[in-house]
Amino acid sequence: MIVELPVMKIVKTAQSKLEGIDFNNLPFGSTFTDHMFVCDYANGAWQTPEIVPYGPLSMDPSASVLHYGQAVFEGMKAYKDDEDKIWLFRPDENHKRINKSSVRLHIPEFPADYFFDGLNALLKLDAAWIQKGLGNSLYVRPFVFANTAGVQAAPGNRYKFMIICSPVKAYYSGELKVKIEDRFSRAAPGGVGYAKAAGNYGAQFYPTSLAQKEGFQQIIWTDAASHQFLEEAGTMNVFFRINDTLLTAPVNDSILDGVTRKSVIEVAKSKGIAVDIRPVEVSEILEAQKTGALKEIFGCGTAVVVSPISGFGYRGDQFEVKPIENSFASELKETLLGIQYNTLPDPFGWRYEVR
Ligand SMILES: *Cc1c(COP(=O)(O)O)cnc(C)c1O
Repeated sequence: MIVELPVMKIVKTAQSKLEGIDFNNLPFGSTFTDHMFVCDYANGAWQTPEIVPYGPLSMDPSASVLHYGQAVFEGMKAYKDDEDKIWLFRPDENHKRINKSSVRLHIPEFPADYFFDGLNALLKLDAAWIQKGLGNSLYVRPFVFANTAGVQAAPGNRYKFMIICSPVKAYYSGELKVKIEDRFSRAAPGGVGYAKAAGNYGAQFYPTSLAQKEGFQQIIWTDAASHQFLEEAGTMNVFFRINDTLLTAPVNDSILDGVTRKSVIEVAKSKGIAVDIRPVEVSEILEAQKTGALKEIFGCGTAVVVSPISGFGYRGDQFEVKPIENSFASELKETLLGIQYNTLPDPFGWRYEVR
């Protein structure tokens, strides 16, 4: 069935995969919905966007993304409330950020109306894939890559912007122990750490696998120059609670400007929690751990929302962060989830209804 719209071509799947899906048993991000959004850049312009059945791509083996990693992505979630309304959380931030990332990787920016029309149409078409109930959501993955054929190491003239969707349950389960890394770096000054560049992730897998052999689940990255300042936890921004103050690093060119991070800061402030945004030294966290002033560490990001960290390692030593009552992490997570799932008021105007 082909429906011609003025700005989008929609080809619906002949056979939905929905019936065979066990929503109670979903490994994160490995099942995808029936449709995907695709828009090609050619001849100096974004072409007519399409929604087509989810499936493999065909591309030239010399496509520059495969050789030079010219690709960026986003991660967002769609939630369904009790009245079957579908919500996104601050999607304008994701749109702005994918364009900021694109500029850094020399990829043409994607127009807002294409992005939002595509998102709305795709989510409406695959709405049955979004399960109700806390913890259930649809992970939405916009991404864009260079598919110019040819191995010349120069920016290409063909790009592909896509959105795919994966039904998910809560991301991390169980304990999260992190290793403070003092050898490898995630990002460098002047580099691409502030962009959601595909290669940033590829470069994390090896150091993370070494940390995992030592019994940690993730790495806390430190600054590339001195390894004295704490930057991010795996692919999450990180917060430290010292007594009753939350501490987190300011964003810079090696720290990703997380939507969850900036939302945590605003929600915390609205609850009267003091938030100190300044470079965080490894030594002060070790000291605070010793004196008992370190009460909590947590990571935050779209996939996990807020994830408490129960211990950390540094240069062979292991430290525990014991669970506490009235934890900031749980309070902040509950408020954010309430806004995202439309079970709490949204004084910030962050919810976006899919129509
Ligand atoms: C995506 C990402 C985050 C979290 O950003 P959110 O917008 O909150 O999902 C944090 N750090 C890195 C390196 C990331 O790629």
